[in-house]
Amino acid sequence: MPDRALTDWLRVSTSILVVTGAGVSTASGIPDYRGPSGVWTRRRPVYYEEFLASEEARVEYWDFKLETWNQYRQARPNPAHQALVALERAQKITAVVTQNVDGLHRAAGTSPELLVEVHGTDRLIECQRCHATSEPDPHFDAFSQTRIPPRCQCGGLLKPATISFGQSLRASDLERATAAALRADLVIALGSTLSVYPAASIPLVAATRGTPYIIVNQGPTDHDAHPSVTLRLDGDVVAILPPAVEQALRH
Ligand SMILES: [Zn+2]
Repeated sequence: MPDRALTDWLRVSTSILVVTGAGVSTASGIPDYRGPSGVWTRRRPVYYEEFLASEEARVEYWDFKLETWNQYRQARPNPAHQALVALERAQKITAVVTQNVDGLHRAAGTSPELLVEVHGTDRLIECQRCHATSEPDPHFDAFSQTRIPPRCQCGGLLKPATISFGQSLRASDLERATAAALRADLVIALGSTLSVYPAASIPLVAATRGTPYIIVNQGPTDHDAHPSVTLRLDGDVVAILPPAVEQALRH
């Protein structure tokens, strides 16, 4: 049975801001890197400054990205991604702000105009000098054979378009997310511990203005005790969201 309160909020809302984290992608086979068996228990992060300064750091970075790319390129959107597309088609979504870099919202069909990938994306490679973008596969194939970090035709360093440790978020992404928070009539945070800022501040921009705020996550979040939380559902997003969306869109 879909959660009744969640279904009712989805039914009456017409301008929903969705904020998603790792819990939305785990059902697609993407591990939570910050979790107990995540990659950070085995590797250290390569900071952006190091990446720019050292070929050795770039090899380490590309080696790490090669490992995750092999998971990403096989991953497919799951029913939670698809439920958000169904809400969009019903003209109920004002923005999908995601912390995920796996590109699965876009792959599911979320419109680029509504999607804000605050931590960037691993689905594109970006030149750090001329900012040209290209498809990842050829670069990963070349790196796996040569172990030489790829470069752009302009000579610039190539890097997956994910925001690295020590690298600022894009100002335009934060502006789009904040603008969506100001016009939303419902905020739903899905599969995020809401512990990574500034992404976690986006729902609070709306909630502190009185916008209803729903959190769906398996395990605790940093906003659980926040006075503006309207509804808190603990469990797997893929189990909770799709049936509620289906019910809400049924006439
Ligand atoms: Zn370039």
